[in-house]
Amino acid sequence: MAILNNHEILLNNITMIVLGLFLSLVPVIGNGQPYDLLLKSGHVIDPKNEINSILDVAIVNGKIAKIEKNIPASQANKVLDATGLFVTPGLVDIHTHVFVGARPDKFADGILSLSPDDFTFKSGVTTVVDAGTSGWRNFPLFKAQVIDKSQTRVLAFLNIAGSGMSGDPDQQDINDMDSKMTSLIVQKYPEIIVGIKIGHYQGNEWTPFETALEAAKKSNLPLFVECHLPQLSLEGQLNRMRPGDIITHSFEKVSERMTVIDEQDHVRPFVLDAQKKGILFDVGHGGVGFWFSQAIPAFKQGLSPNSFGSDLHRFSMNAGMKSMLNIMSKFLNMGMPLEDIILRATWNAAKSIKRSDLGNLSEGAVADIAVLSLLNGNFGFVDAGGIKLEGNRKLEAELTIRAGKIVWDLNGLAAQKWKN
Ligand SMILES: [Zn+2]
Repeated sequence: MAILNNHEILLNNITMIVLGLFLSLVPVIGNGQPYDLLLKSGHVIDPKNEINSILDVAIVNGKIAKIEKNIPASQANKVLDATGLFVTPGLVDIHTHVFVGARPDKFADGILSLSPDDFTFKSGVTTVVDAGTSGWRNFPLFKAQVIDKSQTRVLAFLNIAGSGMSGDPDQQDINDMDSKMTSLIVQKYPEIIVGIKIGHYQGNEWTPFETALEAAKKSNLPLFVECHLPQLSLEGQLNRMRPGDIITHSFEKVSERMTVIDEQDHVRPFVLDAQKKGILFDVGHGGVGFWFSQAIPAFKQGLSPNSFGSDLHRFSMNAGMKSMLNIMSKFLNMGMPLEDIILRATWNAAKSIKRSDLGNLSEGAVADIAVLSLLNGNFGFVDAGGIKLEGNRKLEAELTIRAGKIVWDLNGLAAQKWKN
């Protein structure tokens, strides 16, 4: 038996104390707080899972851990009181322009772009789709410059024009619309590119439209039609589109283009047929894409948008459009029920871009969450023609969570109170 000297006894004792301390901590770590964040008592609307009631939402490691009544506050590191607020999946905006920064072409249209994080979180948006601001030639630059550097999840419709919205005459060049090169880039970035875009073509040939459709078919992705195609009839476009393809600026009223509403205020029959066939109508409000004179009769006669793409760009956000929440508030005051609005802003939008991992609060899904307040008061909502609809309800983003992290907190819901 070894005889220990005083020094060794002391070391042994220290070892035992350290070991004891460690063992006494293990149960605390194991049973203490299984959740990072807990949203208590909010009104959860998660259309995918048919949830519409007061529940608690627990988050761990950036994912939804549990949605249930009365999850004990003691089980979370941080607890937020969401009483009186709506808790929904993070909003999905499928029509934005966010290719900011230098680009080698003339970027006549590129200057429309905004930096996504500056405008998304304050509106409850956690995912945006850039609508063809880039094409196969400059998508890698867009990815390096914006997509990889943004906290917002940025996805993309790839423009059939090689350099995307690079200004005229470049974006009109039919010879630079290449379905093969476009689908090669799609194959390289399947986790980011969610569709092919045709738009801003001013000519009267169907070749660009058909080339874009061909690229979409090759890639098994939706075609996104931004119908500033004044020479090509709306009926011809809708006839060529497949179920699941998306048309935006659905309620536009510019003289060169046929509208969804005819002179007698009726939705044109071929438009309703297209909706029945499965073509998806996106709002695409932007600067000129949304008119009450189109949207209100359309809504009353059963032509509802499938999603609330904002067409966010430098000019629309300072004009009638403002934000995706403002568009949602317009439809709320037009009479669309709140649950239908959340459906279109989350699950419908995610499904339309074949990303069923998004737009829902299923257990295990990424914790992208919008916490919204519904304000009562006197508000004015303005369309692209400068017409105002008065209303008494308005949605506002109180808190936005992206992958479990609080990225927007309007009134300090998650902050510590000042104490004198
Ligand atoms: Zn656009």
